[in-house]
Amino acid sequence: MSKIHELNEVLADQIAAGEVIERPASIVKELVENSLDANSKQIDIIVSQSGLDSIRIIDDGAGILPDDVPIAFKRHATSKIASREDLFKVKSLGFRGEALPSIASVADVVLCTSTGDETGTKFQIRGGVVQSNQPAQARRGTDITVTDLFFNTPARLKYLKSPQTELTQITDIVDRLALANPSVAISFMHNDHEILRTPGNGNLQQVIAAIYGISNARKMVKFDGEDADFMISGYTSLPEATRSSRQYISIMINHRYIRNFQLTKALIQGYGSKLMVGRYPISVLDIELDPVLVDVNVHPAKREVRISKEEQLGQLIATTIRQRIAQENLIPDALDQF
Ligand code: ADP
Ligand code: MG
Repeated sequence: MSKIHELNEVLADQIAAGEVIERPASIVKELVENSLDANSKQIDIIVSQSGLDSIRIIDDGAGILPDDVPIAFKRHATSKIASREDLFKVKSLGFRGEALPSIASVADVVLCTSTGDETGTKFQIRGGVVQSNQPAQARRGTDITVTDLFFNTPARLKYLKSPQTELTQITDIVDRLALANPSVAISFMHNDHEILRTPGNGNLQQVIAAIYGISNARKMVKFDGEDADFMISGYTSLPEATRSSRQYISIMINHRYIRNFQLTKALIQGYGSKLMVGRYPISVLDIELDPVLVDVNVHPAKREVRISKEEQLGQLIATTIRQRIAQENLIPDALDQF
């Protein structure tokens, strides 16, 4: 009698969900990233009770073909990469094909989607079990609602923090996604209150103003720099407008928000002695590089990435910030129309 057996699909998905879907904020992140990958221009995020009641994301992106909908909920099913070579030059935010099956394994999911060319689909799945799959009238795009989160994983449910903490986490993720994508109009409603709305006109400074307030945005200066491998740009606050935490520093690599200690340190070093001890700037740093230079397949949630030539990149960041802060004379003007 053999003692080893393969886990059934639903159980395997639940285990994967443990890594990808820690909390309501992870669901918002994964779903909004899917909307961004579908080239949406408008993404509406509607959350109630910090996501414990429901999370709904509506986009105007490419939609999913009727036959593809059940496949999208299978593990490792993705439209974003096809070969080993693709893995080394990923441009999309997703590629692991894990989010939808993971979410569906621990919640109730209703997905309405259409590519716009034909009848759409309404698909419901709960705890990994398909409840219904019907043709439906839908405009182009995808509308997905997640309820009953962690209904079948009570330990996970118990581990969640206070509603306020969960909401803070969601807001943080939405802010970073908005900062990384100023060309997409993103709105975020919580319990019928508008928390964020960005214009989607490509103006990063206006997104910064929507998130950190107009007076902070005015105290930030634009910078850019490049070397043979990297192009960097963004906004960073003048030394007089600082914070007591590093969390107002956002770093994006090819429009993906990442956390990276070395690069954050390099940015802070650029200020030299102009920053007081324990004070940090508000910054948005966009890094563009050849996807070959970055390995995003390090962490299931892809928050951490590995960058080749990281030291060189750090030097570029520090030098660019140092030179820009030394000028310190630019008055932002894009906010005048905001
Ligand atoms: P991944 O994003 O890694 O491919 P997901 O499980 O998040 O994996 O999604 C599976 C597939 O479903 C995606 O590859 C994509 O083809 C499709 N999909 C998911 N969400 C959307 C969306 N909002 N619009 C269009 N297609 C989507
Ligand atoms: Mg995805």
